[in-house]
Amino acid sequence: MAKEKKLVFTQQEMLKMNKETLKRRGVTINDIAELAHAQQSRYTKGIPFELCVESVERILSFRDIFHHVQLSAEIDRLAEEGLFQGPIQDILYEDLGLFGIDELMGIDVSGNYGTIGVTNFGEIDVSKRGIVEKLNEEGKKEGKCHTFLDDIVGAVAAAASTRVAQVLNEELAHESGDYHKTSIFDYIDNEE
Ligand code: MG
Repeated sequence: MAKEKKLVFTQQEMLKMNKETLKRRGVTINDIAELAHAQQSRYTKGIPFELCVESVERILSFRDIFHHVQLSAEIDRLAEEGLFQGPIQDILYEDLGLFGIDELMGIDVSGNYGTIGVTNFGEIDVSKRGIVEKLNEEGKKEGKCHTFLDDIVGAVAAAASTRVAQVLNEELAHESGDYHKTSIFDYIDNEE
């Protein structure tokens, strides 16, 4: 009898599988949270590291991100094992600079947090710090390929960094005295 196929998973299951897959590929939640923390700390001081960890975990539990992480990790593994046929094997394995489909996936992931998410991804992609730099260096070694993973990890960090900014701004809005106002006329009246 054919093996029963399972296609859909709970958010908790997806987070667990993403954590395991990333760990197998050499990346921890903390690695990604550190990138998010470093990026957002340029704008706000004293960001709790826990908020970054929570944001990374939240993002890694989403279904579309689950598909991105799982597919990226498998593309890299297959390239490491030389299992692609045709020119794409060498293009993937050598991480050709002009190959942009890995960045395209990063843009899609970070785009879940709007244009700010995408620009934050661009910044991480260009500056190559922390785990992104490590993956990039490791990917050059014999038998290693991180062509897709570095972009997915950078994009999850960018999305988490953007979520942190959203959470902090929500808190700020609640702290400001005007939040109880429900109508634009409340503001207009006040200005007179
Ligand atoms: Mg790449």
